[in-house]
Amino acid sequence: MSEFDDYIERAGLCRRCHRKIRAKGYVNCPDCIDYMRMVRANVRDHWRAAGLCPECGGPITPGAAMCDRCRIRKRVYKDHMVGRRRAAGLCIICGKRSIKGTGYLSCIICREKQRARSKREKATGRRDGHDADAVSEGHKHAGPSDVHGRYVT
Ligand SMILES: [Zn+2]
Ligand SMILES: [Zn+2]
Ligand SMILES: [Zn+2]
Repeated sequence: MSEFDDYIERAGLCRRCHRKIRAKGYVNCPDCIDYMRMVRANVRDHWRAAGLCPECGGPITPGAAMCDRCRIRKRVYKDHMVGRRRAAGLCIICGKRSIKGTGYLSCIICREKQRARSKREKATGRRDGHDADAVSEGHKHAGPSDVHGRYVT
């Protein structure tokens, strides 16, 4: 660590702008945190639009959400987190609330959120990545009304 870095650490200054005091628990000030968050979001959008992995900008197989490396990394991380949360008796989704004695793996708030989400997806008929299914289902539904040949209005 250089003397300058040492000074920044001691003074608790932002590592990026070296001027403002760090936000609690961060190595950057709130302004720089906001800025970096925005840049990262922009970069991700750019990668996604270009058909690249939104996590690392690497090449992906068409139709995949991210590259194999990032998918594996995410899965390993998730497995690790889920294992730790389960062992600690915490909700495996948020890791904040206790699930001890409930018989569920996630807390009531996360379960409620998931239920609301699946309800919304059903209502809009939107199921990400299952367009083909939706089309074939549509044909199935069209079948019976064709047979009857009329609509009751
Ligand atoms: Zn800063
Ligand atoms: Zn990637
Ligand atoms: Zn939860």
